[in-house]
Amino acid sequence: MFKEELIKFLLSTENFKELDEWYISDFDDKHVHGISYEQGYPMLTDCCEVWMQYPQNTFELINIMSSIRNMMSTNTFPEIFIENKENILTIYCDTENRVRTLINRVYEGEGIEPQLIQRFIASGIEDEKLMFSELFYRSNIDWFKVNRELHSCKICGYYDEEFLPWGLDGEFPLYEICPCCGAESGYEDFTLESIIHNRDKWTKSPKFNSDEKYKKQLVNYIEYLK
Ligand SMILES: [Zn+2]
Repeated sequence: MFKEELIKFLLSTENFKELDEWYISDFDDKHVHGISYEQGYPMLTDCCEVWMQYPQNTFELINIMSSIRNMMSTNTFPEIFIENKENILTIYCDTENRVRTLINRVYEGEGIEPQLIQRFIASGIEDEKLMFSELFYRSNIDWFKVNRELHSCKICGYYDEEFLPWGLDGEFPLYEICPCCGAESGYEDFTLESIIHNRDKWTKSPKFNSDEKYKKQLVNYIEYLK
């Protein structure tokens, strides 16, 4: 059974010092390579169930889920992913914490310079977030869009996971000042008219025109929400 094999594999990563760099592709070769669409679908369901149980193995699971999806060449995820949207979002938001714990554990007592460890952590976080986005890119799950929307300034498109201008449900403004354009949520972005008016003001401001990155940020935001 795939699910049992998967759990056995994840538990084996506890002895991380014995793993070689090919440990995930070895698993793929054995269990994922050559599967059909019909086989892949229940495997994705298994992966999701196991993921909810072993979020600390997100790195391995994302890799395996991506290989399964590649083999099946599908854009849809089984219903169970949608049912677990909130949990998946929580796992995503916990990326920093998870990567930090894991890397500290891997290099514990190896006498590696703290700055170097910090660099590993930073690039680990970036890699894992990218993998996440790639996994769910063009799929039937829209929560990345929702997440992006909740953490963005409606005026300039500034994005930061710590920034939550309209609260977790996006319904009630928290009167947050955007660190980029200075707009206050619930005030300058209260209606579509005020968004258009203040965005227009922003695009004419000296700050906006001082650097191409502000234009890119806004274009990306608008593109993303399409
Ligand atoms: Zn802004």
